[in-house]
Amino acid sequence: MTKHNIPKDHPRAHSLKIRNTMIDSYDSGILSQYGLIAHGRGEAFDYILGETTNKISLKTIRVATALLLLSNSVISVNGNSAALCSKELVNLAKLTNSKIEINLFHKSSTRAKKISQLLKNHGAMDIYGINKKFLTQIPNLKSDRKFIDKRGIFSADVIFVPLEDGDRTEFLKKMNKTVITVDLNPLSRTSIMSDISIIDNIIRVIPEMVNQSENMSNLSLDDLQKIVNKFNNQKQLQLILRFMSKRLIDLST
Ligand code: ATP
Ligand code: MG
Repeated sequence: MTKHNIPKDHPRAHSLKIRNTMIDSYDSGILSQYGLIAHGRGEAFDYILGETTNKISLKTIRVATALLLLSNSVISVNGNSAALCSKELVNLAKLTNSKIEINLFHKSSTRAKKISQLLKNHGAMDIYGINKKFLTQIPNLKSDRKFIDKRGIFSADVIFVPLEDGDRTEFLKKMNKTVITVDLNPLSRTSIMSDISIIDNIIRVIPEMVNQSENMSNLSLDDLQKIVNKFNNQKQLQLILRFMSKRLIDLST
């Protein structure tokens, strides 16, 4: 695919550079063509957010990080999250003692192996979700994301699924998992059904989670638990929707 040459002073240079990263990831077999479309939907919501992390999301990010530090957790990686922040995801897994599992909506063992290699290049040791011997299925889920690792998602309490599909979120909830997501769309089924929904761009969220896990590393388990207990996801979603509405109203007056 021929890539766009981006002039440095282009007003949308940052966003266009990220698109080039996505195209590179598509060309190298990390991302599916569907991932490119999903990225576009995310961009539209990021435009409304103002392409920065606001105080509402910062709070949610802090709570999500505290929960990862507290629990038996797995970070579920797909093509988009690998394309955008594989290095930071590996760091986050190390700092929060979370496992990493590859789980693709559009299943392909070649792509899964490429993502696994990319994560290993960034220092990941064990990658779950690849070895067929350990795979089991989420009961009744139709999509290919039903395959999960017995040693990973199947046995974890908390699943962090940046960029998830609504169907699987629903079934993970049915399996009594606590679900943390990153999704720029506050109206998606994923955002509505998760326990902690971070409405922000994964490209900003994961580095901030790495920061927060370093900041919180000396907090006691009690202090971390207090941060998590006070959280109300429904209220946070309302605050984000109000934030977006206010921005649109401010821009239209
Ligand atoms: P759902 O299945 O949850 O109802 P959906 O079908 O609309 O949602 P999917 O295609 O399943 O969406 O998942 C892609 C989601 O990922 C979209 O909601 C999109 O907003 C979000 N997304 C895409 N890129 C990013 C990104 N960089 N950061 C955060 N979210 C993103
Ligand atoms: Mg979906």
